[in-house]
Amino acid sequence: DAALYHAKDLGRNNYQFYTTTLSAKTPELLNLEKSLRYAVEREELIVYYQPRVNILTGQITGMEALVRWQNPEMGLIAPNVFIPLAEESGLIIPIGEWVLRAACLQNKAWQQAGLPPLTVAVNLSPKQFRQSTLVEDVARILTETELDARFLELEITESTAIADLEFTRNVLHNLEQMGVHLSIDDFGTGHSSLSRLQLLPLHNLKIDRSFIQELTTDVRVAHIVKAIVTLGRNLGLRLTAEGVEKQEELDFLKSIHCEDVQGYLFYKPLPAEKATEVLQNKQTS
Ligand code: C2E
Ligand code: CA
Ligand code: CA
Ligand code: CA
Repeated sequence: DAALYHAKDLGRNNYQFYTTTLSAKTPELLNLEKSLRYAVEREELIVYYQPRVNILTGQITGMEALVRWQNPEMGLIAPNVFIPLAEESGLIIPIGEWVLRAACLQNKAWQQAGLPPLTVAVNLSPKQFRQSTLVEDVARILTETELDARFLELEITESTAIADLEFTRNVLHNLEQMGVHLSIDDFGTGHSSLSRLQLLPLHNLKIDRSFIQELTTDVRVAHIVKAIVTLGRNLGLRLTAEGVEKQEELDFLKSIHCEDVQGYLFYKPLPAEKATEVLQNKQTS
């Protein structure tokens, strides 16, 4: 069955599900959207955790929650495939809420196990961010899971943030009042500037992986990253470099005093049990 064969490669080749005609969906994609409707209630979603590492100390300062879909027929499906579908269909609201609760519960469990406190970072999609109940939903989930707000970090992409700066400022202000930490994700891809973001109550700036990839091959990119780190620090932000894969990249980031890194050089996203092991081993070594 050709459809199923294609479906098996979902995680790696998601482009093949989109036909060349703009916005037309292949039958596979339509089927996928249908089964996504039941993914939450059938408990098919899983959260992986990718450690964020402090360059100087080597300590794990946070974990980013990254959702996967364990589909019984198709195996593990990457978020790049189903998050866009979820976003378009509105399913992102229940899915996003599920991820948020799972991540808060996990962080609470780590704390209760006596592991050093860290923040758990959760991605908010554009539609989630614009949902009028977002602030109360976050507050309710923190109460339900008994996680202290300062151990939760919410990530919005640069383009989500700048789509309507006044609106963004309002929502972030309310979240910040609650004690939640706030991050700009994929920084550098939204064609904004740090000066436009300076009015937002942010804690963390995540430099997009596309910059890190060119860091050691394009000297102009190195200059840009250095400028982002310098300016970001002057604005009181923590800087995280995304997608660090090579020692040379790390060396450069260290030389410009970037605080944190996330990337395969240290850890890939890990299932919760593996992430727990990593935290436990760190503590005893
Ligand atoms: P993101 O938020 O920018 O997450 C970082 C992505 O980069 C993750 O892909 C991570 O596995 C990958 N990554 C980290 N380090 C490296 C590296 O060294 N090399 C390479 N090649 N990749 C690295 P993932 O888990 O497939 O997630 C992709 C995107 O899907 C995320 O990008 C985020 O936009 C979205 N996503 C994931 N989980 C959620 C979620 O729960 N809610 C929402 N709204 N979006 C999510
Ligand atoms: Ca992210
Ligand atoms: Ca990112
Ligand atoms: Ca990204």
